[in-house]
Amino acid sequence: MKSSPVSVVTGGAGFLGSHLCDRLLAEGHRVIALDNLITGNVANIEHLAGRDDFRFLKHDVTEYLFLPGPVDFVFHFASPASPIDYLELPIQTLKVGALGTHKALGLARAKGARFLLASTSEVYGDPLVHPQPETYWGNVNPIGPRGVYDEAKRFAEAITMAYHRAHGLDTKIVRIFNTYGPRMRPRDGRVVPAFVSQALRNEPITVFGDGLQTRSFCFVSDLIEGIWRLAQSDEHEPVNIGNPAEMTVLQFAEKIVALCESRSVIVHRPLPVDDPKVRQPDIRRARERLGWSPRVPLEDGLRQTIAYFRNLLDRGLL
Ligand code: UDP
Repeated sequence: MKSSPVSVVTGGAGFLGSHLCDRLLAEGHRVIALDNLITGNVANIEHLAGRDDFRFLKHDVTEYLFLPGPVDFVFHFASPASPIDYLELPIQTLKVGALGTHKALGLARAKGARFLLASTSEVYGDPLVHPQPETYWGNVNPIGPRGVYDEAKRFAEAITMAYHRAHGLDTKIVRIFNTYGPRMRPRDGRVVPAFVSQALRNEPITVFGDGLQTRSFCFVSDLIEGIWRLAQSDEHEPVNIGNPAEMTVLQFAEKIVALCESRSVIVHRPLPVDDPKVRQPDIRRARERLGWSPRVPLEDGLRQTIAYFRNLLDRGLL
């Protein structure tokens, strides 16, 4: 009998990492999740505890890791990922993108495993091309406060391609655009947890700047489907995964207030430094090469997300 593939997921207790673990297990993989828990949370994987096809190791992926036995896939998802997190953890953000990616690639190479890097739309910085195709090289401020994340991920892409070219490693790079869904950390400062928790508590909704900056929001199940398809593919170039439905942050705030049936009012707060003015994925490559496109309408995804946060609120965890 053919044994099940073994996948290692760094950042496995995070928002995206934990959803990826669920999907891999559903596909019959055995999963080893690594996380140092600085922004991850074991609550995201507690439903997997006790399964014999799942293991969790509290480990910092910037440190050397010895894993016995075969590994077929390494998914490198560990990183602080919200602007507040990487402002508070600048060195850790740089280290996990640089040293952590090097270690994760080393593990994949030692095991002859396929490697998938979670990269980001932040590699495009404050983009001068709109929407952003993978061929756009970006407009990043290397020394600004967001530079720690943007440049770490750009380095991560560079070293991933170097391992592919120099060592023939089978590598993939997904550039993840704004994604939302259950298991986002309530206080990670990102717009979805911030607005939903404010709306549920009938507190003011904090729109940064004039709110005319745009984002495009992808539901987590769509994102994971894209990543699954990419992992199965022979693609080595970066692939954008995100939902092209673009809106202003102000429109988004109004939608959240309406869906939460909230009495919150909108207030304006200063715009963070280097906050991108626009962001929308060009997903032609994902459509053509992976046959992927997003399926979940924003309202459906938001209803599931709001239900998750409402449950946290009811349990006193919000
Ligand atoms: N934002 C906001 N209020 C908040 C949090 C975020 O207006 O309480 C804005 C932020 O300035 C940005 C957008 O929402 O323009 C998305 O921010 P997020 O932190 O989710 O991630 P980003 O897309 O900037 O990486």
